[in-house]
Amino acid sequence: AVDKEKVNSVAKIKVVVRKRPLNKKELAKNEEDIIETLSNSLVVHETKLKVDLTEYMEKHEFVFDAVLNEEVSNDEVYRETVEPIVPIIFQRTKATCFAYGQTGSGKTYTMKPLPLKASRDILRLMHHTYRNQGFHLFVSFFEIYGGKLYDLLSDRKKLCMREDGKQQVCIVGLQEFRVSDVETIKELIERGNATRSTGTTGANEESSRSHAILQLAIKRSVDGKESKPPRVVGKLSFIDLAGSERGADTTDNDKQTRMEGAEINKSLLALKECIRALDNDQGHIPFRGSKLTEVLRDSFMGNSRTVMISCISPSSGSCEHTLNTLRYADRVK
Ligand code: ADP
Ligand code: MG
Repeated sequence: AVDKEKVNSVAKIKVVVRKRPLNKKELAKNEEDIIETLSNSLVVHETKLKVDLTEYMEKHEFVFDAVLNEEVSNDEVYRETVEPIVPIIFQRTKATCFAYGQTGSGKTYTMKPLPLKASRDILRLMHHTYRNQGFHLFVSFFEIYGGKLYDLLSDRKKLCMREDGKQQVCIVGLQEFRVSDVETIKELIERGNATRSTGTTGANEESSRSHAILQLAIKRSVDGKESKPPRVVGKLSFIDLAGSERGADTTDNDKQTRMEGAEINKSLLALKECIRALDNDQGHIPFRGSKLTEVLRDSFMGNSRTVMISCISPSSGSCEHTLNTLRYADRVK
């Protein structure tokens, strides 16, 4: 039976901000930390110029569900964001955790450890609380680049998407691995991450233009019959979004870059609209806006949970991007 109380105790949408420390490059340029944090709010201290070129400060205050400062470890990030969701994945819930922010703000640093920590907890539940109840854990990992899907666990094989008429999305040919130990999951995650960052041109440049989607699916054999294909009970998706500043690449000289920028812009806007629609319990959720939201369609239906981790750089040089990220997060909240 579905434990309704347990499911209802977890917020439908949670928006947290993670601030990273100043890095060497920023320190070398004498950039300052302009982000003042409290437990669930923060202030951006923006330096502006008057017409006579004298400086003045403008403060921008934001309130979120939680603000994680530069001293917060990845373990604490997990505890604050994904850990509370794990048990309800066994209760017919689909949950999605996003990392949003400009390139270099800490999205991948934040996202990378989360699926491993989550699968450790999922397997623990499967082996103890839900022992011998026919549950299995499956892992898949793919990316959306320029509006197209590529399998990160299958040498970047190009994939396509189909709807089955029951509002379930099906990604044709996507490799799904059934896993029962943490070591195997770790290998798969590492393989996917390596495939992502060593694309055609290599390095961060490439990954900043793609959305990486790692999904953990919990399936259950129908009536304990191992012969029938198991059914999806719950799903937990981790999405390392494209760099938010890439959505502004719509006036670049290079046509390819412009098209990718437009696609990223479209998907980040559509994502925001979908999460807002979820929050207002609107019947109509505008999935069709982009490939990203279409792929996530079934994760937004029914019992869904969303966690948005907005990553920011503390430096004065990133002030404008940081304000954009915080405004986006503020709209989702
Ligand atoms: P993004 O994925 O948003 O482009 P990365 O996650 O690659 O950014 O982070 C950029 C750099 O900053 C990396 O070298 C990463 O290790 C470092 N970094 C990011 N967040 C933190 C943090 N909270 N603490 C320490 N280093 C961090
Ligand atoms: Mg990254």
